[in-house]
Amino acid sequence: MATGGETTTTIKTTAQETDALRGIERIGAHSHIRGLGLDDALDAKNVSQGMVGQEDARKACGVILSMIKSGTIAGRGVLLAGQPGTGKTALAMGIAKSLLDSDYGVNGEGAGGSRKASLRGQDKSSNNINAESNEETPFAMMAGSEIFSTEISKTEALRQAFRKAIGVRIREETEIIEGEVVEIEIDRPTAGNVAPKVGKLTLKTTDMETVYDLGTKMIESINKEKVTSGDVITIDKSTGRVQKLGRSFARSRDYDATGPTTKFVSCPEGELQKRQEIVHTVTLHEIDVINSHTQGFMALFSGDTGEIRDEVREQIDEKVAEWREEGKAEIIPGVLFIDEVHMLDVECFSFLNRALENDLSPVLVVATNRGITKIRGTNYRSPHGIPIDLLDRLLIIQTKPYTEKEMKLIVNIRCEEEDVNMSEDAKDLLTKIGSETSLRYAIQLISASSLVANKRKSAKVETDDVSKAYNLFIDVKRSTKFMMEYSSQYVY
Ligand code: ATP
Repeated sequence: MATGGETTTTIKTTAQETDALRGIERIGAHSHIRGLGLDDALDAKNVSQGMVGQEDARKACGVILSMIKSGTIAGRGVLLAGQPGTGKTALAMGIAKSLLDSDYGVNGEGAGGSRKASLRGQDKSSNNINAESNEETPFAMMAGSEIFSTEISKTEALRQAFRKAIGVRIREETEIIEGEVVEIEIDRPTAGNVAPKVGKLTLKTTDMETVYDLGTKMIESINKEKVTSGDVITIDKSTGRVQKLGRSFARSRDYDATGPTTKFVSCPEGELQKRQEIVHTVTLHEIDVINSHTQGFMALFSGDTGEIRDEVREQIDEKVAEWREEGKAEIIPGVLFIDEVHMLDVECFSFLNRALENDLSPVLVVATNRGITKIRGTNYRSPHGIPIDLLDRLLIIQTKPYTEKEMKLIVNIRCEEEDVNMSEDAKDLLTKIGSETSLRYAIQLISASSLVANKRKSAKVETDDVSKAYNLFIDVKRSTKFMMEYSSQYVY
């Protein structure tokens, strides 16, 4: 007689360990951007989701987003072009954040649950090309100049960046046994701090008692969950992980039986079993690093992955193709954002051209603040310093300078984001400074002025505090002027 039900539950495991190591909280330059701030008709609301103005560019980004969702952007990329500080990086962040709640199909499979963009590495100052598979749609970001600072070749750096922006969603099935703990016996070692390695657990499933030999992993999770006799627990058959359910045995029998993915199938007499589907989403780069004998997975934390051999990548591509055929894996092309793209050279541009041809290519978004300039590595000039054949594949979105009113709104949002209480007059002064120097400089003065105000024990930033910060930290224009005036005293 089958006395239990088999249910299917979906668990998502992510690269949380990486998060834990890198999870020092800080307010990023674009942390206030929560999306593109568009309505259903893809029109930009003047101020929404932390985004201010730049309506045309936001609308165009919305169209790109729709193309990403419908899978019609393959083989192409997007170029965000505009003066410094006009929000190109902010728009790229907006696209990535908008993917947070999108469902978009891969390989024509249609929506498959919420795919969430992950935004590690959003800080431009970071030296590593960062990406994570945390919430499924990978978003990798790098500055063009970074390819010259790594110890690996330029094309290897780009190859890694591309693979950081391609997710692989792997499905695994495991059986879960649920029951009430009758007794636990753990062999305590007699001396020293040696962790117990063996023990026995008697589990009563619906009407049968079974004795399990405990391995170290099970003992660890029993200790962690503080499992004692009488508790209702589950044991994951493949990992040996024990979890306390914290509900009565009678109720636990219909545990999870009402979920949309519930399946009832026969199961061995006396055992209440569930089948759980575990979904891991990792990036191709993570798989590469873990399988690279020279690096090992610790390299994922240090970011120092070195060169990865072509054979490793080929083997992984074959394996992933096999998993896809068996229905065990699905590819999730993410977004690769390359800022200061004019810093790349002709060799890198031809790599990008080829990479865009690949079926598995992520959506490439690049940004530049340059006009007509030399293509690095050549004597040819070209718009944005990008070769024409690559430009041809890019959809170009222009960003425009902000009005003072828009700048003030952005200053306002940043004050809120940084939790800085600032008087209206001080905000007006910052806005004026921003329009005469740059928006980024004005934004940087927010925290500096707040520290000046703190020093005089005031919780509110006034115009004097902003002026002091303005005199303490000079902008590029003043720095250049100073340099010109005293040029003879500099070392050449
Ligand atoms: P650069 O060419 O120098 O790289 P950029 O065009 O990438 O500059 P950002 O770094 O995006 O400019 O913008 C500077 C600052 O202003 C950032 O903190 C950004 O989040 C903010 N910002 C820019 N545009 C907007 C906007 N439309 N709404 C809200 N915040 C914005």
